[in-house]
Amino acid sequence: MNQASEPPQRDSMDYDVVIVGAGPSGLSAAIRLKQLAAEAGSDVSVCVVEKGSEVGAHILSGAVVDPIALDELIPDWRERGAPLKTEVTQDRFYVLGPSGALRLPNALMPRLMDNHGKYAISLGTLCRWLASQAEALGVEIYPGFAASEVLHREDGSVRGIVAGVAGISRSGEKKPDYQPGMELNGKYVFIAEGARGSLAKAIIQKFDLREGRSPQKFGLGLKELWEVRPENHRAGQVTHTMGWPLGVKTGGGSFMYHLEDNLVSIGFVVHLNYENPYLNPYMEFQRFKHHPLIEPVLEGGRRIAYGARAITEGGLQSVPKLFFPGGVLIGCSAGFVNVPRIKGTHNAMKTGMIAAESAFEAIKAGRSGDEIGEYQRAFEASWVYQDLKKVRNVKPLWSKLGLIGGLALGGFDMWTNELFGFSLFGTLRHGKSDAESTKPAKHFKPIDYPKPDGVISFDRLTNLAFSGTNHEEDQPVHLQLKDPSVPIRHTLPIYDEPAQRYCPAGVYEVVQENGTPRFQINAQNCVHCKTCDIKDPPQNINWVVPQGGDGPNYPNM
Ligand SMILES: Cc1cc2nc3c(=O)[nH]c(=O)nc-3n(C[C@H](O)[C@H](O)[C@H](O)COP(=O)(O)OP(=O)(O)OC[C@H]3O[C@@H](n4cnc5c(N)ncnc54)[C@H](O)[C@@H]3O)c2cc1C
Ligand code: SF4
Repeated sequence: MNQASEPPQRDSMDYDVVIVGAGPSGLSAAIRLKQLAAEAGSDVSVCVVEKGSEVGAHILSGAVVDPIALDELIPDWRERGAPLKTEVTQDRFYVLGPSGALRLPNALMPRLMDNHGKYAISLGTLCRWLASQAEALGVEIYPGFAASEVLHREDGSVRGIVAGVAGISRSGEKKPDYQPGMELNGKYVFIAEGARGSLAKAIIQKFDLREGRSPQKFGLGLKELWEVRPENHRAGQVTHTMGWPLGVKTGGGSFMYHLEDNLVSIGFVVHLNYENPYLNPYMEFQRFKHHPLIEPVLEGGRRIAYGARAITEGGLQSVPKLFFPGGVLIGCSAGFVNVPRIKGTHNAMKTGMIAAESAFEAIKAGRSGDEIGEYQRAFEASWVYQDLKKVRNVKPLWSKLGLIGGLALGGFDMWTNELFGFSLFGTLRHGKSDAESTKPAKHFKPIDYPKPDGVISFDRLTNLAFSGTNHEEDQPVHLQLKDPSVPIRHTLPIYDEPAQRYCPAGVYEVVQENGTPRFQINAQNCVHCKTCDIKDPPQNINWVVPQGGDGPNYPNM
């Protein structure tokens, strides 16, 4: 057998624009490029690669979506049958205690938090529809193609990516079905990988795009899709909660969105700057569902799907420089989520669109492989910038002051921004990265979580079966340890190896072998949420793409 480390011979294809990721940002960029070419009576070649087995297979979101970007991109989306069927009818916000719930009056909430006029949807389904619109315009979309490497020109600029490498064994040998992958070259490469993209991470580091910015912050979002009894279903009802079971020091909250057809999307986000390494976000979600506000909605229903995904939370002060020689970062690869609104889709789409407009002008002018600084300026002049600016201090206030102080001052700050266009706090910065926020286990006691009842709450591996996750086992482990000795030598004694708890798919275990602990990685269970890459205290875990098509197979998350 040949070692896969021999330099591979690869076919290559050239495009005007190569886009990595078929989420809302990548697909909106592709559609906008083709629209501009059609308007100009010219053509632009665009390809999109997607690591999921099909478009939408790796998409997990809430989602209550603000249609502002879709209105601009495809104004007649209603006539074209876009899957935005359930308009929000009722908007409720609660602070929870262990057995009670305090509803905050809607009049207290700043207008920007209002969900009326928005739609409760499946983002995976919307992406599938966007992909059909893109293909009708001539965009080439390749699902099952994971982009694993960035290619550079001699001057260091990005010239393309490698995608579609497959058939390498766990020990690195070429198997009979070995595929060296393709080189996909572009005049410009758009990185649209979503939160904590693996190529984005390498590019941000190589081109120092984070210089002068706050560290990016993240949350872990866990979600289940339920079919509930018709009498418990309230189409268009949107509920957000904060507080229990997290307590006042750990940030996070829940969402419960009633979609169409008796479907309810229920999820829980834990801010990854939590300090206690014994915290188990998955178990917090499971016990949350037993709250008296929530359990009656689920009773008699059935869980259809489960999954998890990181969400960017740093906001404006964490947005990196958006361009580099040969390409741009769009959507959550850069991080445009409006945290108090828990909305990033509209900003992901719009940044894809304005990047497309900047790149199209550059290509028209005969440029290639240079820096598209116009995109950065267009972003700063766009409504995305204003959307993020108004809420820029909410997350830092929450991190500094906890639930009560953060809620009060964050709310006050959003009001002054909305009414008078300024903040008394200026722009607050984020301090530590989420990995650095974890404190040694000796400062805490292990948390005794209630056992799941198998009806409303479920154990992790049972739930994982509802994510459709599958990985070819005989392939290199895509969760790379920079130093394999670190988990047992360092992270276990100091932090009680929190990967055992923060991973929502039970990938990491510390097993005892003849009285000696061993760190075990069940890579085939990974749902690609990226939490380990973010939260591992010594930053020893590096998430890279597995073979294309592997991972979760979400139907409509
Ligand atoms: C739990 C949760 C709840 C949320 N709720 C809401 C909400 O209610 N409303 C809202 O507006 N927003 C919400 N968001 C945020 C919203 O989902 C994101 O802002 C949005 O999905 C970002 O779009 P994107 O295109 O940048 O990235 P993504 O949607 O993450 O899409 C990225 C795509 O790129 C693919 N990809 C990644 N790396 C590679 C690679 N190397 N090669 C090939 N393909 C790759 C992925 O498989 C994926 O399909 C929520 C997010 C979470 C996690
Ligand atoms: S291994 Fe990492 S990326 Fe995969 S599910 Fe677990 S925490 Fe998420």
